[in-house]
Amino acid sequence: MYPSRFRYEAPQSLDEAIGLLHDGGDYAKVLAGGQSLVPLMKLRFASPDLIVDINNVPGLDYHRADADGTLRVGALCRHADLERSALLKSSQPTMAAAAPVIADPIVRNRGTLVGSLCHADPQGDWASVVMALGGSIVARGPGGRRTIPIADFVTGPFQNVLDPDEIAVEAVIPPAQGTRAGGYLKLERRVGDFATVGVAVALETSGETVTRAGIALTGVGGSTIAAAAAAAALVGGPLTADRIGLAADFAAEAAQPRTDHRGSAEYKRHMVRTFVTRILGRAQPTEPATERAA
Ligand SMILES: Cc1cc2nc3c(=O)[nH]c(=O)nc-3n(C[C@H](O)[C@H](O)[C@H](O)COP(=O)(O)OP(=O)(O)OC[C@H]3O[C@@H](n4cnc5c(N)ncnc54)[C@H](O)[C@@H]3O)c2cc1C
Repeated sequence: MYPSRFRYEAPQSLDEAIGLLHDGGDYAKVLAGGQSLVPLMKLRFASPDLIVDINNVPGLDYHRADADGTLRVGALCRHADLERSALLKSSQPTMAAAAPVIADPIVRNRGTLVGSLCHADPQGDWASVVMALGGSIVARGPGGRRTIPIADFVTGPFQNVLDPDEIAVEAVIPPAQGTRAGGYLKLERRVGDFATVGVAVALETSGETVTRAGIALTGVGGSTIAAAAAAAALVGGPLTADRIGLAADFAAEAAQPRTDHRGSAEYKRHMVRTFVTRILGRAQPTEPATERAA
């Protein structure tokens, strides 16, 4: 199917893009990688009046670490940039594990991490990863910049808190206080598919002690789920079998899966438990646990 008729603008600066959104009427949409928006438009699930394509806006295609270790991922940084990133491989095991299992190479060449967060698909992989890492989104609008923790950013399936004239300019991952460990595991029906179940685990350790933990779940609820009790079970001591078992049980309890053509709710809950156990069993500082299970 063809999309409905729309006006297309390709501004050359962020200010111009924000101005176009501000003056753009009731239904304007930002276009980044187009890997979610364009399919929705072709199916006419989305019929915006105005498309503001930000691909000509300079200076948004970065990912970099500040001196204190804060990681910044710009709005035009593609999944593929993150998949190939030496920076992620050396310092962000959970992100390094997730990047290669997002969709397929064609989608990864165009799609963006920030676009994925904005799209707020409960089956989006990046939202769990960024949530486990305690990340946030920086938005810019006519009134200036604001920073929104990822836990507050998504309000429901395919909904976020951005105003119609705001653009998400970057995602921010705070610096680790200790050594990072963790991973991302994803069950998919075939390579390139969305997650039937995804689990992101992000740890910070000092010696053998876990000093911070984040666990978040993909595809097993109406939106990304933060498994807070599971993460709390890991903090304050070493990764013993008891703690790992407790965290896996809490994470399975936090999941809210539904039975569908991808599997029963019971099976999906079991996979959450299995993935948490598996990631934590392999967790070594800065070595990503990564795997596609089909
Ligand atoms: C075949 C296929 C398989 C896929 N499989 C997976 C998968 O396994 N895992 C996964 O996580 N994703 C998957 N995706 C989705 C893909 O990751 C998209 O790239 C991502 O969801 C959206 O990023 P984008 O840059 O393409 O955003 P776009 O499609 O350009 O935009 C998506 C939405 O976010 C808004 N938006 C985008 N950027 C901004 C911004 N900077 N500020 C404000 N609003 C913004 C848009 O207005 C739109 O509403 C798949 C897509 C396809 C087509």
